[in-house]
Parts: sequence; structure tokens; C-alpha cells
Amino acid sequence: MIGVVGGGISGLVLAYELRRLGVDVTVWEAASVPGGVMRSQLHGDLVLELGPQRARLTGPFRQLVESVGLSEELVTAPTDLPLYMYHRGRLRRAPLSLSQAVTTDLLPWWAKARVLAEPFTAGPRAGELVGPFLRRKFGGAAYRALLGPLYGGLYASDPDRMPVKHALQRTLVELGVRRSILWRMFRGAGQAAASAPCSFREGLGALPLAITRKLEGSVRLEAPVRMLRKKAVGWEVTVDGAGIVPVDAVVLACPSDTAAGLLGSAYPEEAARLSALRYNRLALVYLKSETRLRGLGFQVAFGESLETRGVTWNESLFGRPGLHTAYLGGMKNPELSDWDDGRIAEIACKEFEVATGYRAEAIHVSRTRIPAWDETWDGLEGVEWPSDLYFCSNYTARPGILGRITEAKRLAVTLAATAQPTGYKPV
Ligand SMILES: Cc1cc2nc3c(=O)[nH]c(=O)nc-3n(C[C@H](O)[C@H](O)[C@H](O)COP(=O)(O)OP(=O)(O)OC[C@H]3O[C@@H](n4cnc5c(N)ncnc54)[C@H](O)[C@@H]3O)c2cc1C
Repeated sequence: MIGVVGGGISGLVLAYELRRLGVDVTVWEAASVPGGVMRSQLHGDLVLELGPQRARLTGPFRQLVESVGLSEELVTAPTDLPLYMYHRGRLRRAPLSLSQAVTTDLLPWWAKARVLAEPFTAGPRAGELVGPFLRRKFGGAAYRALLGPLYGGLYASDPDRMPVKHALQRTLVELGVRRSILWRMFRGAGQAAASAPCSFREGLGALPLAITRKLEGSVRLEAPVRMLRKKAVGWEVTVDGAGIVPVDAVVLACPSDTAAGLLGSAYPEEAARLSALRYNRLALVYLKSETRLRGLGFQVAFGESLETRGVTWNESLFGRPGLHTAYLGGMKNPELSDWDDGRIAEIACKEFEVATGYRAEAIHVSRTRIPAWDETWDGLEGVEWPSDLYFCSNYTARPGILGRITEAKRLAVTLAATAQPTGYKPV
């Protein structure tokens, strides 16, 4: 049997794929609800997303949704919804295609001309950070107004702290970028239609719930793993309420500090490097505001004096009446998450009005965290683990939902190739 620690989307998709491949698996999840950061909550009739606000309806996502019987619950948004940047006192449309790049008022003409020089700049240099890399490729103005906040925003990080080799290289390879990102965009333009932003009627948290139902008895909730012990063959997993469970291999699909705690006594040096990985703490403020805004939302350009990093317009995306979700904190202000709810809510409302012109009322504040993918990832280089210990979480490969599904599926195939056939009934 394969033991999976953590029932977030990574651990659940992994277990689901393993079961499809006929491999016996158990997921232990510490919380009473599966999904990890991918969780939704009702506030009256409104669906609040406590983590991700939207997925993209790509082929693999659609396949997963269909196979767990959630197709009827899907809600999608138009593929052409604009994204805005708050820059120089107002919202300006972010250019997401080459034609928009020509007409945008986000950048002055000379900054656009500098962007066009990108194909003549070299690919990533050894040891380069994402910030300097993007500035060298596209120029400082485009970096500050658009690329820095967009890329950093994915991780609530500062690209000046994110090494290309950890945070960007994999994406460049997957996109087929050798030297020029612009050239790749130009060649790709029109080839594939953009995937629609999507969610479910009851929020993204419906997906982990549906996978858990499909896995029948293979997911144990309120079952925190307390200890891992390596045996000559396989592992012993100590689980609250289940005692000591022998498994053939362990997959850690939990946050890195939990993983470090479980491995610390047997592998102290390696575990110390895991526990040093930085997570960015974020505050999410749910705003009610009757607006006529149409779009995905906005991000805040670097150099603007707002605490808000970005706002998702849930109303425009999925018709959630008057709802907008503001993100504050992250690496820009790590202490903000410690402030009390009232103070954070007041700032979010005030800044929403500054950026959009609409008054807003805060209805809820939540907190979460996300791997920073910064220089602390250097510490993982050269670390070796036993061959029957695996990692699958948002600090091991791309953190987006699609990245999680991709990594989990790949790992399932690897594990199934080595697992003993059990005759276990596939889901
Ligand atoms: C605020 C935010 C916004 C995001 N927005 C988007 C977005 O719009 N689109 C997108 O594609 N992606 C987005 N992401 C990224 C994506 O949602 C996450 O990277 C992904 O959901 C992480 O899943 P995971 O399973 O790897 O980790 P987690 O969700 O962290 O799951 C780990 C699980 O391990 C469990 N656990 C911990 N300790 C133990 C233990 N001892 N025993 C058993 N279980 C344990 C935890 O309870 C948890 O359920 C966002 C992330 C965040 C935080």
C-alpha cells in the first residue's frame, strides 16, 4: 500500500490516479474537511473561496471534473475577460496579447519599444533571479507596471528573491521557450484557444470533496500523521486514531514544515533544509460592492503605495453578487497578517475605492499562506531521500491547480510501475 500524508488537491489527485491504476492507497488528512488550501465557505448565499479563486478549464482539469461527476456543477467565465493593473492613479488594462501590447496605455511608447527588443536578449543566466531576468529581457518599466506584479503575484513573492532555476525554468521549458518569450508568444498566438476560467456552483472546494467521495474509504479525515519510521522495507506511519500502519512507500503531500517535522528525527540535516523553506502569509478580505466592473480583477503595479496586492472580481467571473476578494500582505508586507481583522478590512475597503471608485463593505477576513519559491529553495539542492519516500505538493513543482494535477498524475504512474499488484478494485 502507498501512504499519502495530506489530503489537499495534490494528495487527493495522486490517490485517485493510483486507484485508477489499481494501486492500494490511503490518504491521511489532518483536517476534518479535505482540500487543504482549496476550500470554499458559504457566507449567507455567497460562496467565498479561502484559497484559489479560479481554475482554468484545460483538458486535464475537464477530464478530472468529468470523471468525478462534477460536470453539471461547473461554472465558467468568458475567455476574454480583461485583467487590470493599478498604475499611476488608475486601473489600466493589462496587455495579454501582442495586439493589446501595442495599444495599451499601461506603458509609454519607449517602454513598448524596449519590450520589442526582447528577442535580441539572451536566455536565463546561471544563478539569475526572476526580477533581474525579466528586467533584462523586457526593460524596467514593463517589469514594474506589469511583469513583476503578475509573476510575483502568483506566489505573493518578490521576483527579486526568486531564482529562475527554481521558480521559472520549468515553466519556460514546458512552454518551449529557448531564448525569446515574445517569439514563443508570437508563434503560439492563435494556435490554442485560451482555457476558460472556471469554478463550481459551490466553489472550488467541491472538487476535493468529490474526489474524496470517489475514493470511498481510502481517505481518512481528522487523521494527522504524527511520525514516520523507515523500516528495512517500507515505512511505518503513526496516525492519530489508527495507530501504526505499515506501508510500502510514503508520499508527503503536506506543507514542508509538517514534512520536516515527520522526518526530523531520522534525517535531521535534510529536514532542517525542508523546514527552512519560506511561505508567504496572506490576508484575504471579502468585499461586497455593487459595481459594474467586468474583468478578472486587478493587480497593483510595483511602486504604488497600496497594501493591496490584487483583487479578484468574483461577481464578474462567476456571477457571485457584489463579491470581490482582495489579497494583502505576502512578501511585500509579511507582518500584515498579524494585524487585527478590523484594521486589514478597513485598508482593503479604502484601497478598493481608490482603485475602482466604488465603495465596499468587508464581510469576512481569512488568512492563508503559499510557498514563496525564493532563495530558500537553494537549500533543497543535493538533498537525498530514501528511494521509497516521495514528495508531491505545491513546494515541489508548479503550485497552480493544473501544476498540482500534472505532478500528481506523473507520480502516480511512477509509483504504479513499482508497486506490487494488489488486485485492488480501481475507482
Ligand atoms: C491564497 C491562494 C490563492 C491561490 N490561487 C490560485 C488560483 O487562483 N489558481 C490556481 O490554479 N492556483 C492557486 N493557488 C495555488 C493552489 O491552490 C495550491 O498550490 C494548491 O491548492 C496546494 O495544494 P496541495 O495539496 O499541494 O497543498 P495543501 O492544500 O496545503 O494541502 C496539504 C494538506 O496536508 C494536510 N496536512 C498537514 N499536516 C498533516 C499531517 N501531519 N497529517 C495529515 N495531513 C496533514 C493539510 O491539512 C492539507 O490539507 C492559490 C493558493 C493560495 C494559497
